[in-house]
Amino acid sequence: MKTIIEPFRVKVVEPIKMTTRDEREGYLKDAAYNLFLLKAENVIIDLLTDSGTAAMSAEQWSALMRGDESYAGSKSFYRFEEVVRDIFGFKQVIPMHQGRAAERILFSVMCKQGSIVPNNTNFDTTRANIEYLGAEAVDLPIPEFYQPAVNHPFKGNMDTAALENFIKRVDPERIPLVMVTVTNNSGGGQPVSMANIREVKAICSRYGVPLYLDACRFAENAYFIKLREAGYADKSVKEIAREMFSYADGCTMSAKKDGLANIGGFLCTNDDQLAQQEKDLLILTEGFPTYGGLAGRDLEAIAVGLEEVLHEDYLQYRFASIRYLGEHISRAGVPIVQPPGGHAIYIDARAMLPHIPPLQYPGQALAVELYREAGIRSCEIGSVMHAEKYTESGEEMPSAMELVRLAIPHRVYTQSHIDYVVEAILQVYERRTSISGYRIVSQPKFLRHFTARFEPVDELTEILRVRSNHGKQIFLQN
Ligand SMILES: *Cc1c(COP(=O)(O)O)cnc(C)c1O
Repeated sequence: MKTIIEPFRVKVVEPIKMTTRDEREGYLKDAAYNLFLLKAENVIIDLLTDSGTAAMSAEQWSALMRGDESYAGSKSFYRFEEVVRDIFGFKQVIPMHQGRAAERILFSVMCKQGSIVPNNTNFDTTRANIEYLGAEAVDLPIPEFYQPAVNHPFKGNMDTAALENFIKRVDPERIPLVMVTVTNNSGGGQPVSMANIREVKAICSRYGVPLYLDACRFAENAYFIKLREAGYADKSVKEIAREMFSYADGCTMSAKKDGLANIGGFLCTNDDQLAQQEKDLLILTEGFPTYGGLAGRDLEAIAVGLEEVLHEDYLQYRFASIRYLGEHISRAGVPIVQPPGGHAIYIDARAMLPHIPPLQYPGQALAVELYREAGIRSCEIGSVMHAEKYTESGEEMPSAMELVRLAIPHRVYTQSHIDYVVEAILQVYERRTSISGYRIVSQPKFLRHFTARFEPVDELTEILRVRSNHGKQIFLQN
């Protein structure tokens, strides 16, 4: 059969509340045009993230009942540890309440003021946790990564020549670790090839620097390797994942992605001494090392999820559904990051809305418009999210790309939901020239995209124009 179907059937349903355009207009105002501040019940299709939003399987729900909630030495921990060791292969497995807790503890132990951590692309929480310690996060992806329209089978790769030059230029002593993020989330969910991981490892070994994987979407990355890299077609996804991890000294993981769980994560390492320091810190903020901020039942759900995510019929359906969305909108002219990624489609908002200047946030404008049009929630990945860059005079600098991510939750939506999303995007695309930009009214110091408040630029221009009493057009500079 040519038709690829959802390899599951629905056992429990969660009704969606339908809303009108007028209602959504009000919700947008109340949320200060920040989609993170919307009430989820007012969202029709929620593509904000695939993180922690997976539908659990019957096996996972059953495993919850097996959860051993003992404070120390819980059976659920040992079951979890066994599964993680089997797939990831590291000696030490430390549970965490989510990925960023693993990042915070890893960097607290390995970095100090002035340290530098190169990555193919640092995820936002990764960067924030590094910078919070007074260290520096450096992105070294291949050049194609910054060209949304360019096709490349492994667009998430690290630029290995740039990495080696970088290590040579700065003292390797200042580089406590190198990270590779699989898949490369921040710019398209693009995969990293096995050859690239191997090359990065060779460079790291030459300079005595440990290599860690940010493993959040390891199964999707492994499946891309199976489909696209010579020599892997006949290997199982699990074998490929094991090989990926064999080149690393440790990893951080958010089980909210390829763990198919609603909460959880872990930190792995082969270094016993480091693990001891990490567990000491864990006790301070997360909990005892056999639960790390999770309930026993969460550890059970993750253990089952990590096995299920490696099923190839599941990965085949997931990629097919995401490719379907990408192909249907790009065929109609909507510019997207090519090729479609493993967990999401990224619309190139800068190319779609060239009339909106980068610092009037075209990605935010498009995300707001998709909500207004059809109640679809997406996520800006552009100048709003990557705000931490300022020039020496303190001016904000635009991000290299202005993207809107449509992340597909695992096993949650069906084909007709995706068709609805396609229709909405095409309607917004039709009226794209009438969409205007936004300005930020207030923002926090870190990770501003979560809580910043916005207002439309055109309304403000209008107010100022009326106030100026001259009827002259005022150009806002921000
Ligand atoms: C989600 C994510 C993280 C952080 O994980 P949380 O569980 O959200 O804390 C880190 N890196 C990447 C690549 C991610 O996608």
